[in-house]
Amino acid sequence: MNPADRGDVVGRFPRSDKADLDDAVAAAEKAYPEWRRTPPPERGQIILRAAGLLKQRKDELARLMTREMGKVLKEAGGDVQEAIDMGEFIAGMGRRPFGEAVPSELRDKISFTWREPIGVVGCITPWNFPIAIPSWKVFPALMAGNAVVFKPAEDTPLCALRFVEVLAEAGLPAGVVNLVHGLGEEAGGALVEHPGVRAISFTGSAEVGRIIAARCGQLLKRVALELGGKNAIVVMDDADIELAVEGAQWAAFGTSGQRCTAASRLIVQERVLTDFSELLRSRAEKMRVGSGLDPEVEMGPVINRKQLERVHSYTEVGVAERAKLMTGGHILDDAAHASGNFYAPTVFTDVTPGMRIAQEEIFGPTTAIMPVASFEQAIEYANSTAYGLSLAIYTRDVNRAFKAMRELESGIVYVNAPTIGAEIQTPFGGVKNTGNGHREAGTGALDEFSEWKSIYVDYSGRLQKAQIDTA
Ligand code: ADP
Repeated sequence: MNPADRGDVVGRFPRSDKADLDDAVAAAEKAYPEWRRTPPPERGQIILRAAGLLKQRKDELARLMTREMGKVLKEAGGDVQEAIDMGEFIAGMGRRPFGEAVPSELRDKISFTWREPIGVVGCITPWNFPIAIPSWKVFPALMAGNAVVFKPAEDTPLCALRFVEVLAEAGLPAGVVNLVHGLGEEAGGALVEHPGVRAISFTGSAEVGRIIAARCGQLLKRVALELGGKNAIVVMDDADIELAVEGAQWAAFGTSGQRCTAASRLIVQERVLTDFSELLRSRAEKMRVGSGLDPEVEMGPVINRKQLERVHSYTEVGVAERAKLMTGGHILDDAAHASGNFYAPTVFTDVTPGMRIAQEEIFGPTTAIMPVASFEQAIEYANSTAYGLSLAIYTRDVNRAFKAMRELESGIVYVNAPTIGAEIQTPFGGVKNTGNGHREAGTGALDEFSEWKSIYVDYSGRLQKAQIDTA
């Protein structure tokens, strides 16, 4: 259903179960040996063609995405663009070295390494970047020579379908990528359990990530997790305040706050607190909220009714914790908004680190201003959550900026830019409870999806013993 207009049914999709999943894995296992032997430059050509098709269809896919999950058209276009960029970036890897030649301690002997695929890998994705996130997983998985079973989020099956159709059209052999719709516990759970699936790449909630990690631990299956964030923008009193407010607005309310890198905390030094807060309040109150298909609209709906209620429950939590509600804090249910899942851009202030609204991921258009006295306190507050995905600082003091780069506990740090806006050529992921040590995208994009093989060739014609003293 269109989250901006619940009467608009976008499509009907199968609720696949274990039997469908078994078929998908069997197809992947059948296609895998031939795909594994396909030269990487040839795999790259297919990925490049897929990127080209995404480029041709960018506008159409963006409209479809806005209708299916609500983000405004420009952001939906950005989502498709990210997949295009990722495709072009990964395709080029097909002609780059995958390993190293390594000197041996012995004469007439050489060792080298190459990457090997893992086998059949499972990709489980969320709805908030319904084309970009699948591309971060599926393109590198394919480049590394794996076959894929892809289980997208229940809320965005159509974007997933279009993405896989593009791959098929680009010439990907049948069975190399297999799409299975369905519910998380059912289809997703069956994918995690399947003995033919050797690795799981998951992006979603911390709650589900823990379940999947525990199961993969028992099954000794490789698992890469990209979970939540409780990201913060630090604003020092020497910052360009207008720039910081503009960045905060974009990072807090872009995609209705439904990005894992959204800025749900704004840590502001006391001297600029009033100016910053008032500017942000006035910008939040002027935001046009509505269907993302309307080019005038700045913020679309929340993904579904359940999430809308969850977002509102956090407003109640914040009020009960005695944070000060500056603006928003309610479901928009006037005539223009009643048929969609719309929430008013919401700003709390006087928030302290012990409060739940300063600790838990809300995944909605709600942000919390946290006043601080000093740089040291700002860093302490920024690092005070279980998560560590994206942190930002606005300052004109270069020494402070570098200290912040070092001290902020997160996989991504921004200086004089907000917490959102990662580019695909840099590793993406977080520390602490945001993940389990893996990174997507960047030059290491294949790491998640490949194994290293070390090979030794002895051309001396005699038995040489490594690590054994001969003198
Ligand atoms: P979000 O809160 O972003 O919707 P979820 O973690 O609930 O995140 O869902 C992310 C993805 O994980 C979706 O594709 C969903 O279907 C899937 N999923 C949910 N529960 C499970 C589970 N128990 N096992 C495997 N996949 C699951």
